[in-house]
Amino acid sequence: VGAADDVVLIDQHCHGVLADDADGARFRFWLTEADTVVRDPFESLLGLAVRRWCAPVLELPAHAEPDVYLRRRAELGWREVTGRLLRAAGVSDWLVDTGFVPEPATTPAEFGAGRVREVVRVEQVAEQVFATADTVAGLLDGIRAELRRRASGAVGLKSVVGYRTGLAVAPTAPDDRAVRGAAAGWLASGQTRLADATLLDWLVHEAAAVGAELSLPLQLHTGFGDPDLDLRQADPLLLKGFLQSTTGLSVVLLHCWPYHRNAAYLAHVFGHVSVDLGLTVPYVGARFAAVLGEVLELAPFSAVLYSSDGNGIPELHHLGAVLWRRGLGRLLDEWIAEDVVGAADAERLAHATSAANARRLYRI
Ligand SMILES: [Zn+2]
Repeated sequence: VGAADDVVLIDQHCHGVLADDADGARFRFWLTEADTVVRDPFESLLGLAVRRWCAPVLELPAHAEPDVYLRRRAELGWREVTGRLLRAAGVSDWLVDTGFVPEPATTPAEFGAGRVREVVRVEQVAEQVFATADTVAGLLDGIRAELRRRASGAVGLKSVVGYRTGLAVAPTAPDDRAVRGAAAGWLASGQTRLADATLLDWLVHEAAAVGAELSLPLQLHTGFGDPDLDLRQADPLLLKGFLQSTTGLSVVLLHCWPYHRNAAYLAHVFGHVSVDLGLTVPYVGARFAAVLGEVLELAPFSAVLYSSDGNGIPELHHLGAVLWRRGLGRLLDEWIAEDVVGAADAERLAHATSAANARRLYRI
């Protein structure tokens, strides 16, 4: 029995699940970060992991062919498949980013698969206020008020500024004049999508203030994702100035690949920074132990968190959990065998990174 086999997880960042059936094309769309599916995502470590670990949950042999898997999925129906995969993940709490949801969506709570808690995506709050605002003051005051209102019912905040103008967030909030000018420009543009660097900096600092005030961690997307982002601007090292000026706030760096070592360094030098691997976990599949090992080279054990970034298809929520336990377990078993760590310490490390750190950070 591995050191992490039975550990119950807190999935500190995921999204909703599709509430209807997905045919082969739609399923593959959710199995890649590419905008257009040109190459078959089944032919990747993620695809192999689906066939190895999800097929048995649907009572197929491990490594079932993609067509066999998709046929079985259709036969059982999305409801049955989703319930099985989510319950078998062994997750007690899912922290769901409600700013991006598949359509139509459902959540793990509807399948008796654990509790769901909300993480508020701040750009979505700003864009929702924008839809009804007609003056600069109405827009800015409205965003401030709505952020506080939404935050009061949530366990955390999240920003996707890494997707918009990148992670080089100014160390201090822009001045009022600049913010008002930028807000006027946004209103005049008529474009709902917030893409102005001054306003995004302002919003992230507003979120940081709300987070510090209400003791809610601020999650930041870092590292890879769909091609909507410029990966060079998603290196968490760009956050240094912002992190130095926000020590009263807990900051969580999400996903991180290929900058997971940079993120581990930031967690090492800044006591208010934590790191997870999110999206990286299902995507790197069988390589996960190696990637996690690189994070643990420098990150303090109390700064490492689990998440799946599961989104759309429940296979991702499931694989995050399976691959996390397996990768962490393999790493710890190796360390025990090499006498790097004792069995009791290994077990504590497994529980801390799988759930206890998140429980403390989000006050669950
Ligand atoms: Zn996400």
